[in-house]
Amino acid sequence: MAAYDYETHEYDCIVVGAGGSGLRATLGMAEQGLRTACITKVFPTRSHTVAAQGGIAASLGNMGPDHWQWHMYDTVKGSDWLGDTDAMEYLAREAPKAVYELEHYGVPFSRTEEGRIYQRPFGGHTTEFGEGPPVQRTCAAADRTGHAILHTLYGQSLKNNAEFFIEYFALDLIMSEDGTCQGVVAWCLDDGSIHVFNAKMTVLATGGYGRAYFSATSAHTCTGDGGGMVARAGLPLQDMEFVQFHPTGIYGSGCLITEGARGEGGYLTNSEGERFMERYAPTYKDLASRDVVSRCMTMEIREGRGVGTEGDHIHLHLNHLPPETLHERLPGISESAKIFAGVDLTKEPIPVIPTVHYNMGGIPTNYWGEVLNADGENPERTAPGLMAVGEAGCASVHGANRLGSNSLIDLVVFGRAAAIRAGQVVDRTGGNPSLNQASIDAALDRFDRFRHADGTVPTAELRLEMQKTMQADAAVFRTDRTLAEGVEKMDSVARKMDDIKVTDRSLIWNSDLMETLELANLMPNALATIVSAEARKESRGAHAHEDYPDRDDQTWRKHTLAWVEGADVRLDYRPVHLDPLTTSDEGGIDLKRIAPKARVY
Ligand SMILES: Cc1cc2nc3c(=O)[nH]c(=O)nc-3n(C[C@H](O)[C@H](O)[C@H](O)COP(=O)(O)OP(=O)(O)OC[C@H]3O[C@@H](n4cnc5c(N)ncnc54)[C@H](O)[C@@H]3O)c2cc1C
Repeated sequence: MAAYDYETHEYDCIVVGAGGSGLRATLGMAEQGLRTACITKVFPTRSHTVAAQGGIAASLGNMGPDHWQWHMYDTVKGSDWLGDTDAMEYLAREAPKAVYELEHYGVPFSRTEEGRIYQRPFGGHTTEFGEGPPVQRTCAAADRTGHAILHTLYGQSLKNNAEFFIEYFALDLIMSEDGTCQGVVAWCLDDGSIHVFNAKMTVLATGGYGRAYFSATSAHTCTGDGGGMVARAGLPLQDMEFVQFHPTGIYGSGCLITEGARGEGGYLTNSEGERFMERYAPTYKDLASRDVVSRCMTMEIREGRGVGTEGDHIHLHLNHLPPETLHERLPGISESAKIFAGVDLTKEPIPVIPTVHYNMGGIPTNYWGEVLNADGENPERTAPGLMAVGEAGCASVHGANRLGSNSLIDLVVFGRAAAIRAGQVVDRTGGNPSLNQASIDAALDRFDRFRHADGTVPTAELRLEMQKTMQADAAVFRTDRTLAEGVEKMDSVARKMDDIKVTDRSLIWNSDLMETLELANLMPNALATIVSAEARKESRGAHAHEDYPDRDDQTWRKHTLAWVEGADVRLDYRPVHLDPLTTSDEGGIDLKRIAPKARVY
């Protein structure tokens, strides 16, 4: 057994991750007087949330009529009827409250002439249950909304005496014999020390796993560590086949150009200079939902109407907009276009291509953020002591496809919900659990194995092989053949983890070891994605299957559950929640309004 000394810390709650969701949970828990610590592998304000540009959706109605029920309808339709109805209702109803709270905490939103929070149009957000014109629902702080939110929440968390363990890498969950989560084991990157966090409630807020793909808009730190920890604890991952491609990543670098660019009037053209979205989505055009726009762009490229010498991308035009609008509303992307594409967007179009952007799937939870240890027989069973929020979790409000600006609101609504729930279930007066030593030892043994790994495959090489496989075979369009090939390739890639080579054996700032641990976390996420995708014989939201082009509600309106052990994946399914929290006679939603129908924009 590996011999490591460690320090033990006791808290009521620990939150792993300091992005928007982790900080909102941390703040909410600390505000209620729960002894709360937040553990993060990067400095809080460097979490990927800092890069969110476009904004946060809430039906404030500052720029014209809006209603939470319309927001809910758009989210249901956006999810291609795979989201859980109760969770989507909770999101849309609580959204305005959560945004006003952010305003009062100090988020510097852009303002209208009257001094209200500025809201812009975003894809898939409409009025009148999808029958009216696009709505301006996305609240923005210029094109730096995530940055503004993250800094504000960090300051507020400190003010409320939350404690931070910064540049600590969480290795594994500590699980009791009966499957209760008791905390995490973590490695301090800065001085190499090992720490055991004993907690009555553990919240995973570790973000997405975009880096399982070759071209992604997300930070290099988005490696699905929470999903990896959960898989190793024997718990399932949900709906992993649904991966969102953002229509406008800058060609070559993957750097994001916000959908807010199209919200402010930007449009796409092909090599013939045609505004092709008018053909595919006559009503909402360039503001149809993301999966739709990404597929249309891919189709144009495939049919030989891509731009550039290789005909392999598309143009995004903003050059017709007044320079003042670009300067005031989109200053960040003007800079990104210059740096990453060498383009002056007041004069020329930006070269763009659909790029991996968001993971709809993740750790299954109910709408309080409590993690589900679900299977076909016990679809609602929870894993006590464990919560997941943000992109790491799957509540599920985004179902098969997320609407733009619905993630930031998901972070704060469910970060807040988790804190409210913790306030109800955490016993403040009772002692902390007595820890399962076997679970701690297993985590340290695994850590030690990687630290001394002396195989033949360098981490960077294996990571690239995984990323290329996922990019090619779990792409915008999928077929039985590409998926079957992808499953086979990923199986052999994953098995090479046993032959990994780590060259640096030290414990202090050992980036080689850290990247290896991250790769070991990406692997189960990638495996679950491709195996779940291969099994789903329909097209829904972001899962566009050419051999099964239609949505099949009869057979496939259900959540996929995937258990990953080593390179092996086992699947099961759980039903979608169809009932709302309140029905129309209680001022809630009319179920007929959100019944499944064809998804056209
Ligand atoms: C470029 C870009 C622009 C976007 N724009 C928008 C937008 O305008 N509107 C919108 O709604 N959505 C947007 N999104 C999506 C949204 O920003 C993300 O889904 C969201 O920010 C994720 O937040 P999070 O709290 O789940 O995690 P993140 O912000 O990714 O943070 C993860 C945290 O977990 C910590 N962590 C991870 N693993 C470990 C570990 N092993 N140990 C310790 N700590 C760990 C990290 O240190 C970090 O603090 C955008 C995404 C990208 C990539």
